[in-house]
Amino acid sequence: MEDDIVKVIEQNSKSKIAVKSAIDRRMFNKQFAFANAGIGLMPYTSFGSTKIKLEKDMYDVIIIGGSYSGLAAAMTMGRSIRKTLVIDSGKPCNAQTPHSHNFITQDGAAPSHISTLAKEQVLEYPTVSFKNDEVTNVEGSDGNFEVSTLSQNRYKTEKLIFATGVKDLMPAIEGFADCWGITAIHCPYCHGYEVKSKNTGIFVNDESAADFAKLILNWTGDLTIYSNGTAVFDKEEVSKLGVYVVEEEISLIQHKNGYMTQLDFKDGTSADIDALYHRTKYEQHCKIPEQLGCELTETGHIQVNDFQQTNVPGIYAVGDATTPFRAVSIANASGAKAAFILNHELITQQYQ
Ligand SMILES: Cc1cc2nc3c(=O)[nH]c(=O)nc-3n(C[C@H](O)[C@H](O)[C@H](O)COP(=O)(O)OP(=O)(O)OC[C@H]3O[C@@H](n4cnc5c(N)ncnc54)[C@H](O)[C@@H]3O)c2cc1C
Repeated sequence: MEDDIVKVIEQNSKSKIAVKSAIDRRMFNKQFAFANAGIGLMPYTSFGSTKIKLEKDMYDVIIIGGSYSGLAAAMTMGRSIRKTLVIDSGKPCNAQTPHSHNFITQDGAAPSHISTLAKEQVLEYPTVSFKNDEVTNVEGSDGNFEVSTLSQNRYKTEKLIFATGVKDLMPAIEGFADCWGITAIHCPYCHGYEVKSKNTGIFVNDESAADFAKLILNWTGDLTIYSNGTAVFDKEEVSKLGVYVVEEEISLIQHKNGYMTQLDFKDGTSADIDALYHRTKYEQHCKIPEQLGCELTETGHIQVNDFQQTNVPGIYAVGDATTPFRAVSIANASGAKAAFILNHELITQQYQ
């Protein structure tokens, strides 16, 4: 069983061994941040190679969600020599997009390439494990959470990081979901450059229409707002920008493998189109943080402070679940930041 694998950490550093002989075993454990992993019971072996058995029944942290934000947190936890388990159900929000942009060193890479590479690098750290599974329930409180999964496994952990993202809710227009992440676009910073100067639409019908138009005009002057029904925004304000407004209801988005070609309207008319921006509705991908008492913001994100801590002690949240600024770079940054603070919290608790 993967769970029962005894991980061996080769510790060749003479300075660490000198420390070991100089202080008692408990202090040694604290020094290397393993006090919570039960290794005080484990025998040490030779000077050149110290075997540390990490007990499977108490993790320092379980990270729920193993995409960009979760893996970024996991890398920092691994580098902090923390016993870490990542559990991921394999449904990142950008799965359908062929190319991910605006993340340095990986501009234009497939999303799965970035996450596969990240996972490989994270799993180089021997204190980190990864499970393909879905977390279905969490009980307990700071210092002693119990995590249950779809495949009937249970794990105990001191701390939790939710890196579970959001689920985009597709509008009920035939063809939209097929184009999502390809030519149906959520964010100009991710995909605007690739469709610059093209025949572009914005699918919006609220007070944000004029501001949305001003933003997208930065990438193309060939712009139409499709309100999919009577416009509720100030049409004159939009027209002054040189942007057309079409109020007919859309019946179908015609496309070839996600690359849209034409909008068909319910009145029988149609319009050519290359790309359509839309801010989808969304919901938390995982409802467990709310069940545990984590507060949400007005925008439906998990409320966190500057250190990615929720209002529930011992529970952190990172990535898209916590912010409307959706980008791989931002998800990464928040994961790393949470792990810095979480590790510091564990150290503080060790020395209390
Ligand atoms: C269509 C689209 C295209 C995008 N293109 C770009 C781009 O080009 N460049 C860019 O920088 N950003 C892009 N983004 C934004 C970027 O993808 C997100 O900001 C990023 O994926 C957020 O990472 P995350 O780890 O917070 O969440 P996600 O990547 O959504 O991952 C959440 C993970 O948590 C898992 N999970 C959820 N619940 C559970 C549970 N109960 N148990 C276990 N696992 C669970 C999910 O399966 C998933 O793997 C795009 C987004 C979309 C929607």
